[in-house]
Amino acid sequence: MMTPSFDLGEFGLIRRYFQEHEAQRTAALRDQGGVVLGIGDDAALLRLPEGTDLVAAVDTLVAGRHFPSGTCAHSIGYRALAVNLSDLAAMGATPAWATLALTMPAAEAQWLQEFCAGLFDIAQQHGVLLVGGDTTRGPLTVSVQILGSVPRGAALRRDGAKPGDVLAVSGTLGDSGAGLAFASAAPGAVDRRGARAAAVDALIRRFDYPTPRVQFGIAARHLASAAMDVSDGLVGDLPKLAAASGVHAHVDVERLPLSAALRATVSEPQAREYALAAGDDYELLLAASPANYPKLEAAARQLNLTLSIIGELSSGSGVSWSADGVACMPASSGFDHFGQASTQITV
Ligand code: ADP
Ligand code: MG
Repeated sequence: MMTPSFDLGEFGLIRRYFQEHEAQRTAALRDQGGVVLGIGDDAALLRLPEGTDLVAAVDTLVAGRHFPSGTCAHSIGYRALAVNLSDLAAMGATPAWATLALTMPAAEAQWLQEFCAGLFDIAQQHGVLLVGGDTTRGPLTVSVQILGSVPRGAALRRDGAKPGDVLAVSGTLGDSGAGLAFASAAPGAVDRRGARAAAVDALIRRFDYPTPRVQFGIAARHLASAAMDVSDGLVGDLPKLAAASGVHAHVDVERLPLSAALRATVSEPQAREYALAAGDDYELLLAASPANYPKLEAAARQLNLTLSIIGELSSGSGVSWSADGVACMPASSGFDHFGQASTQITV
């Protein structure tokens, strides 16, 4: 419930920005996208395809913690759904619906328009319908719940990896972390001469507009033995997969995929550091048997996505790292909101 601060009031605002828009998108779908009842009642009524399990996840973005306070509303709307789609991608699920809990200090028409443009842009790309939410006044906080489905028994989980599996990652790592560092740097502190300007912009874009690997997650359903998305940095996330599967993971740091933009803007050690620990990558980390890996790689190639082997799994526990054949220990430990050094901005 929100005290109206806007000529539309809380309910007019919901109707104008969310309900009417989504009623049109829902009606445009032949089977209504499984929405029996969307925005406007006390709760949504949703119908899952036969033979599937419901997959649900929620992620919250807090201004000043998950994105710098000056971030444009379009990117906030886009990113809020993108990070949730990444969680569904990591389960091999097909996204279908979202709910939105939006807390904002004031109801400003232009901000809301841009926020909705970003949110509905990525919603449309993935066929996701907004089916409900809550609107309140307070410090800017955006919480999106995503709902989707997966054929029964086909979900990708963290606990299925086996000794002997290879460890692979989609796309490139570290871009978003470097982008955030560039976006947060003091004006004039970043060298933007010549080709560097385009590379810096590309990295900032990777932070503002993450690309959830939804289609690849679906393609990996019967090929990967385990999967998760990399949101807190490989150093923070990989131990979770290793522990859930009861295996030891080894990473060859020199195999981490680094983009041309990252290589063009920072030194090699710095690039590796971003790739290991900066977070906000939203790439998929997968385990696959050596027999299935070529099929997984072919599936990625069909989606114009690179897939790189970065290490392997063996019996045991924990994670070990080596760089160019020499054992090493990454300096940072990944992001933890309640950890000792939680100053970084990440989800
Ligand atoms: P209630 O008081 O019954 O919880 P609300 O007044 O909060 O209902 O919301 C009215 C309707 O508008 C509900 O269907 C709710 O799901 C939807 N809604 C509210 N805020 C949003 C939002 N930010 N995005 C999408 N739907 C919303
Ligand atoms: Mg409510």
